Amino acid sequence: MKILVINAGSSSLKYQLLDPDTQEVLAKGLCERIGLDGHLKHTPTGKDVYDADVDMPDHEAAIKEVLTILQHNHYGVIKSMNEIDAVGHRVVHGGEEFTHSVIIDNKVMRGIRACIPLAPLHNPANIVGIEACEDVMPDKPMVAVFDTAFHQTMPPKAYIYAVPYRWYTENKVRRYGFHGTSHQYVSERAAAMLNRPIEELRIVTCHLGNGASTCAVKFGKSIDTSMGFTPQDGLPMGTRSGAIDAAIMDYIVDQRGYSSKRVENVLNKESGVLGISGVSSDFRDLEAAAKEGNDRAQLAIDNFCYKVTKRIGSSAAAMGGVDAVVFTAGVGENSPSLRAEIMEGLEFLGLVMDPEKNNVRGKEAILSTDDSPNAILMIPTNEELMIAKETARLVREAK
Ligand code: ADP
Repeated sequence: MKILVINAGSSSLKYQLLDPDTQEVLAKGLCERIGLDGHLKHTPTGKDVYDADVDMPDHEAAIKEVLTILQHNHYGVIKSMNEIDAVGHRVVHGGEEFTHSVIIDNKVMRGIRACIPLAPLHNPANIVGIEACEDVMPDKPMVAVFDTAFHQTMPPKAYIYAVPYRWYTENKVRRYGFHGTSHQYVSERAAAMLNRPIEELRIVTCHLGNGASTCAVKFGKSIDTSMGFTPQDGLPMGTRSGAIDAAIMDYIVDQRGYSSKRVENVLNKESGVLGISGVSSDFRDLEAAAKEGNDRAQLAIDNFCYKVTKRIGSSAAAMGGVDAVVFTAGVGENSPSLRAEIMEGLEFLGLVMDPEKNNVRGKEAILSTDDSPNAILMIPTNEELMIAKETARLVREAK
């Protein structure tokens, strides 16, 4: 089966054509600057890369370019569109309505639209991506896979904020959580690597990239996660503050004369490790600066690691124990030193890191010592594969 996975942003569109059964990636690529001028980078497996400016006035034009290049006689990987069995779309917000992936129909589109106020930047872009595909490939089954769906198993005590209950019932204010596809994928892979049924494992998954979140996955289900009503909650990130005292907002409005919109923008785009360090939002730059003696870069790293450590502890408490901790995404997959700093002091939970095994990148690995009571793992995330698998499963079930 060949599944086209689409991740549409406001001016970009990532795609991958893959076989979820063999896990073979036929091609992947990225359309950028849609609506401005347009650029396409197409990477077919085992063939030449196509990297050029291509006119893309809108998302429909971008999808058409993707389909053309996929069938191209030099850069292409399929002979005709008939070879594509279905399309899987990443959708950021599914609210409370979508607890699983679904085949897209008119009712589903209404549901995704109803979630726009919860994700005003992301859901409209996802909708445009879906509609563009519908226009260009009207007969292909399409599936929506939501970033929030995996977390819909959280119990009310975990998702409710201690604010007036009517904010929840009337305004939908609650913890939703994000990165669900990634947390689900790596927790399932962890169970497979440990050769144990997921139904008996308590796993803390740490998705640490530019955006960062942890998830307490108890017996295969998310029971708590660090991101909240928006991705702004929880851990400090590249440029996001993570959880802060809500009173700071009004205080800064008074003290610095900012509008609340401006404060929100600073908390999103100028905070996190960039805000503390003044150096960069990229952990590679921070590690280099810290090595050269930059104290604020070191403080940003220490603050980030300290908060991840605390989240692992609180997730263990929420699950009544922890059998495994998993690191994934840009930082989690690539930085042995940050992983080591995060795990420092967590030996009391039976999590003992092996410094040599921790010195790994790019492939699934167990990082804990052979006699560590519980496991520490590194698992490269693969949201596209998860989306393709979900798409294939639903399309097969519908037949
Ligand atoms: P996104 O949330 O944008 O998908 P990624 O998961 O791709 O983010 O992670 C990107 C981040 O990973 C970069 O900003 C960088 O901080 C971090 N990163 C990548 N490689 C390394 C590395 N070798 N060492 C430390 N951090 C790294």
